[in-house]
Amino acid sequence: MSHSHISGIHHITAISADPQQNVDFYAGVLGLRMIKKTINFDAPDTYHLYYGDKIGTPGSVLTFFPWGAGSWKGRGGTGQVTVISFSVPENSMEYWIERLQLADLSIQGPISRFDEQVLSFRDPDGIQLELVGTDANTDQVWSDGPVPSHAAIRGFFGATLAVRNYQNTAKLLTEKLGFKFRQETGNRYRFVNERSSLGSVVDLLELPAGQEGRMGAGAVHHIAWRIPDDPGQLKIQSELSEQGYQVSPVMDRNYFHSIYFREPERILFEIATDSPGFLVDETIDTLGQNLKLPAWYESRRSEIEASLQKIKAPQIPYAITME
Ligand code: ZN
Repeated sequence: MSHSHISGIHHITAISADPQQNVDFYAGVLGLRMIKKTINFDAPDTYHLYYGDKIGTPGSVLTFFPWGAGSWKGRGGTGQVTVISFSVPENSMEYWIERLQLADLSIQGPISRFDEQVLSFRDPDGIQLELVGTDANTDQVWSDGPVPSHAAIRGFFGATLAVRNYQNTAKLLTEKLGFKFRQETGNRYRFVNERSSLGSVVDLLELPAGQEGRMGAGAVHHIAWRIPDDPGQLKIQSELSEQGYQVSPVMDRNYFHSIYFREPERILFEIATDSPGFLVDETIDTLGQNLKLPAWYESRRSEIEASLQKIKAPQIPYAITME
């Protein structure tokens, strides 16, 4: 019997407030491609917006449930993914400092952390983001966006998870999710999944007295790990169940198949398949342009479209045309 293995991050999903502000920031300022405009399958009156590289390669995909302007605000804290880190080319840091300053963002760094340079800032809803200079590359760089390909985000570097006690989460990462302990500094423990070059790093930040996170706009909802295929997913589903985790049934997310469970520090983990992928209902050229609905919602399309706020291509109030 063949075994497929988890190879780092598949996608990360967060909550935002206003959808247009979200598009303007992630597609307009950070230059990610909007690869899918669909709805929250569990709450069809809200969008589910997907950003990524040119084709939405697993390891590059950041998604949002925009709850709307004025919605309940979340707060990063323990029991959550608190920082989302992207890989950018090592020599693009100066470009990014200028670009983010032009966008009026308050930036910190770059600082040195382990072997990399790290630039920190927040998105419009307060989610903490990082750009990490690495030599990670991909042949799916999005080069038709506002950021030139020499500086474009390659995908995730990794994520930081805030926990009260790191040991049980570390055990899960290393024994079931394919990660190896790499190094530590202070209360930061780094784990790496060597099967992937994108989305391969998890830092556990141990905060024994840390304030608990609160779900809402500006908080990360869950992190998904990638598994190549359905048999691999079923195998890990039964292994996790045997260890006492409450694992959901397999859910059809149209672009991947998912199972969900809470890890020992209560962070929501998902395991998502690489297939069928984002090209299942659109071509590479038209990805993200039209509202896509799964077959089971098509009959309600006009009602759903009427309930959604209209969003446009990135509206940026400042010219960022750096080369
Ligand atoms: Zn997900």
